[in-house]
Amino acid sequence: MTTIRLFRLELYRLFRERLALLMFTLTAVSPGIGLSFFRAISSTSEEGYVTTMNGYYIANPALAGGTIGAVLFAILTILQFNYGTRYRISTITDAIVSPLTQALVRLGALLASAGAVQLVTTLLWLPYSMLKVGAVFDIQTYLLSYWVFMFPALVLAALFSAAAYQFMGRADLSFTAFVVFCFLSVNVWNKKWQLCWLNPVLFAVSDDFSNFRMFRTVGYMRMTWLLALSGLWVMSWVCVRQYGKGILGSFLCNIRRVYRPATAIILLAAAGAAYVAQPFYDNSDPDLSQRVFDGEYNPSLTCSEQYADVRPDAGKGSLYGKAVYQLQNTSGEPQTLELVIDPGYKLSDVKVNGRDTAWSVTDIQKTNGLVVKVELPAEPELELSVSYGGFPREWNLASSYGSGDPEISGVYMCLENQRLAPCIRNAAYRDDVLPATIDLTLPEQMTPVLFGRGDAELLQENKDHTRTWRILNTGYYAIIYAGDYVRQEIKAEDLTINLYYGRKHETIMKEAKVGETVRSVVNYCTAHYGPLQFYADGTFKLLQTRATGGGYAADGASTLNELDFTAQNLTNKNKGSGSGEVMIHELVHQWWGLGNMFDTVDSKDPWSSEGLTVYTTYRIVKELYGEEYAKEHYVDQWQQAVDDYYKNFYVRNPQYLSALPEQYQYNIENSVGSMRRYSEMPLKILKAEQLVGGEAAMDKILSGLFNREIDWSYPYLTYQDFLDACGLTKEELSLD
Ligand SMILES: [Zn+2]
Repeated sequence: MTTIRLFRLELYRLFRERLALLMFTLTAVSPGIGLSFFRAISSTSEEGYVTTMNGYYIANPALAGGTIGAVLFAILTILQFNYGTRYRISTITDAIVSPLTQALVRLGALLASAGAVQLVTTLLWLPYSMLKVGAVFDIQTYLLSYWVFMFPALVLAALFSAAAYQFMGRADLSFTAFVVFCFLSVNVWNKKWQLCWLNPVLFAVSDDFSNFRMFRTVGYMRMTWLLALSGLWVMSWVCVRQYGKGILGSFLCNIRRVYRPATAIILLAAAGAAYVAQPFYDNSDPDLSQRVFDGEYNPSLTCSEQYADVRPDAGKGSLYGKAVYQLQNTSGEPQTLELVIDPGYKLSDVKVNGRDTAWSVTDIQKTNGLVVKVELPAEPELELSVSYGGFPREWNLASSYGSGDPEISGVYMCLENQRLAPCIRNAAYRDDVLPATIDLTLPEQMTPVLFGRGDAELLQENKDHTRTWRILNTGYYAIIYAGDYVRQEIKAEDLTINLYYGRKHETIMKEAKVGETVRSVVNYCTAHYGPLQFYADGTFKLLQTRATGGGYAADGASTLNELDFTAQNLTNKNKGSGSGEVMIHELVHQWWGLGNMFDTVDSKDPWSSEGLTVYTTYRIVKELYGEEYAKEHYVDQWQQAVDDYYKNFYVRNPQYLSALPEQYQYNIENSVGSMRRYSEMPLKILKAEQLVGGEAAMDKILSGLFNREIDWSYPYLTYQDFLDACGLTKEELSLD
């Protein structure tokens, strides 16, 4: 019988076996567990479970399917391999077909069935996911999630358990080995992105932008394991018992065909090489006391101008460019210039005044920057040009949570400092300001946004469906976001706000009336508390970014985290009634919550950015929709939550709380924490408002706090600062 025919027979047999069909069915429905009980992606918020829509309805189910499916396929594999022994038919079958061929055919059939089951699973969950994810659904993210997060887990589980069985020849021992292998992944190797084969490290799956970097990272990890376990399997295959011999006798017999052990060694070596040569994370020094730019200036070197021609390769997730620097050397002697580049980039074609010059890569690698030294001749005026580029590497610190931050795709890219172009480390600016020109060539659907002052101007349309933009910047450093953005211009008071958000979010933003909302928040907060310190020359950029751990602001620009604008968050009752009001809440955080406003050390502290944000949201809603509406939807809701809290059994009898299982304690503490921040604190601020003499008086106090002189040794706004400004004590604001 030919191997192909045997394979067909085996597959046919597998699909008629009841137990196998049960395993297949359970695997196909297992993603359902990821919707609630088993959420693999950690929450991005302290207040209950928060992630993106893709996280809720696609990635979590796919990851749960991968974990449960892996266990089911491991059991199935071991039972299949144990088949002959169980029914004591191996002596007969072994006489007809070689045990080696049998093992190969069995594994092939199992892997093929895993593929078929994966296909069914992918189709089965598609309609539900489309419905739930709604406007931001895209088929590519869906398919990649199911085929990168789930499918390889089944394959790896089957390979590992087949290998374990072939080594040990016993079902119980093989299953124990598999359990240990899973335990290593979820426990010992947890957060080590290359090792945890079962539970990939990832922070969040973006809804509005792309996730290719993250899929590449997880795919690479799974591929490395696939090589390693294939090697292991071939190794075990060589140990398949033959001619009634033991493990050693069979091994000696089987290795006579040299290609067998050779294949195993090549696969294992390839896995080792893939592990070592991973291109995703850098080797930055774990000592964080010094940043890469903390160097000493060379007193005889200055820079007067900088130019970069930057060409991201959206298809490959990499970037190439050429940078030119105008330098002055006042020493009359050769000098060494230091450049900081992305650790994933390589330099080439380094020239000074048109001539090749010596340069070298140092071993200084800190805070995601690699230092390169370039030799400069004694001439006073120097033009240095370098070509650079490659696949950017992320700071190794991020490998434990898998942000996928250096995403470069046709939908999104964030090019920061040395990821954009090499930055000079040891020469000062010649003049007060360093003019820097950046020409950026992007796919035609993308809009670049300089994070800071200054705009991008379209320079030319190219034949290859790209556009080149010119961005005028100052200084060595620049942060440029580019995305498939919708730009909305909003006029508020004396300010023009350019709001940039992902095209996929257009429906949701329009439903939440984003233009009106931004206008009313900016008008209200500017009038009552004062302008954001980042406003520049009458324009301000508000920029939606890929799911990250928080927002930040710079001169003339501020970010909006996509996690705050998901359809799920816009229905969060704690933050407002209806999507428009939640959006007001999130925008008010630009005043109460960015940067150094609140210390985030203690997540249980009721004093946080939420108190003043919820209170301000209430005031804006009151102005927009009237006193009655605001009372019903805000003040009454807070009061209700606080009353419920004081009535709560565990609050009145804390001694019983510690008797509960840890998970329940945690849930109760969490909901209490969020009640205190979102309801109790706003109610206290409202009480303070009445005690200080009304809204106008409170607005004056808040404006004073917002514009307070900052003590940089502890820049945060504390509850005591608030009480002092009101001339009140803690006791006076007590609610009982
Ligand atoms: Zn908030």
